[in-house]
Amino acid sequence: MIDRGYYGTFGGAFVPEILTATFDELEAEFRKLKADPGFWQEYCDLMGSYSCRPTPLTYAENLTRHFQGAKIYIKREDLNHTGAHKANNVMGQGLLVKRMGKTRVIAETGAGQHGVATATMAAKFGFDCTVYMGEVDVKRQRPNVFWMEQMGATVVPVTDGTRILKDAINEAFRDWVSHMDTTHYVLGTACGPHPFPEMVSYFQSIIGKEARKQILERESKLPTRVYACVGGGSNAMGIFSGFPDDQVECVGVEAAGHGLASGKHASRLCTDDASVGVAQGYKTYFLQDSDGQMKETHSIAAGLDYVGVSPILSQMHDQGTARFEAVTDAEVIEALKLTMGKEGIIPALESAHAFAQAFKEAPTMSKDDTIIINQSGRGDKDIFTIADALGDPSWKRFIMEKAGEYHA
Ligand SMILES: *Cc1c(COP(=O)(O)O)cnc(C)c1O
Repeated sequence: MIDRGYYGTFGGAFVPEILTATFDELEAEFRKLKADPGFWQEYCDLMGSYSCRPTPLTYAENLTRHFQGAKIYIKREDLNHTGAHKANNVMGQGLLVKRMGKTRVIAETGAGQHGVATATMAAKFGFDCTVYMGEVDVKRQRPNVFWMEQMGATVVPVTDGTRILKDAINEAFRDWVSHMDTTHYVLGTACGPHPFPEMVSYFQSIIGKEARKQILERESKLPTRVYACVGGGSNAMGIFSGFPDDQVECVGVEAAGHGLASGKHASRLCTDDASVGVAQGYKTYFLQDSDGQMKETHSIAAGLDYVGVSPILSQMHDQGTARFEAVTDAEVIEALKLTMGKEGIIPALESAHAFAQAFKEAPTMSKDDTIIINQSGRGDKDIFTIADALGDPSWKRFIMEKAGEYHA
């Protein structure tokens, strides 16, 4: 075990001995990259030409007027290539892979968004790409599987365990052990063994750096609060890192699903259903029972449906340097409807968690306050879930007719 990468008592790198050298190499290459004075500019140039960076900070004038409280700004990570902040992480790791001289990348994916982002990166850089995905998720997320395959990736359905994200992660580690020389594992969020939490947060810090500059240009002062949804924690780490100041309150919003009391949720930092443990190579709060068995999670947003959370956020939670809240599926749908109707913006279901919490608090704040909501992604991908939740009859007819065409 490597005695590095601890955030208080959280984090670490609990990896099989055979991977120790690979992790040492990864950390050394990452340190070199971070110390290279030219790297950050190279990264920003790439993101500027490939992924619409810097993303805008949009003043939500109509929502602000509606709530009669704090001035609301939205950081538009939805405008990235492939529609979410995930592009920041995969392109950063892609540059690292090039420097390491490796030729193949592997990734885990749940809903498929990280898989799609990794497949685009691999296509652009000319890497071989294999994506591990639970068999259940392969069935649920056919459109994303289609795109990954079109971009040249091999998608491997994982049939172990409960056949979802955590099983895909285990399988990706298994692959890595047998192909360490050629292969880099592009982990999708600020979780997992050191140095992944630090590395992913570093690439995502581009969000916070931009947002800080943009809000100071617009308002000549720092925001009162910054909101981000928390799945694994990478978009939250990205924006929070731009506002380490005492006067800015960072608010992480988890998925309360059907309600925290129902047991059907994905909150690790706002309930007693989670406890500290070691799994998947790191120590953090996990949704697990007293035997260390992982519990089933639920959220309307597939990207928030995970048993662990970034060890960096676990430390911030225990130290009180960030506040954590949880909102329900129903609250998320209401926030989504309001944002579409008032601003013509469609947040991803994940991002809508941050909007929902911000909407609870904005009316209680003063007009001198400003807040930033990190819109981690766009909602187009969620059309099936959102249309279902809204019970739109003509959408239902469309789906039935499509199904009929294939049946005939
Ligand atoms: C994957 C995803 C998330 C959750 O990941 P974090 O690492 O917590 O940021 C949030 N929003 C969107 C749009 C996503 O695709």
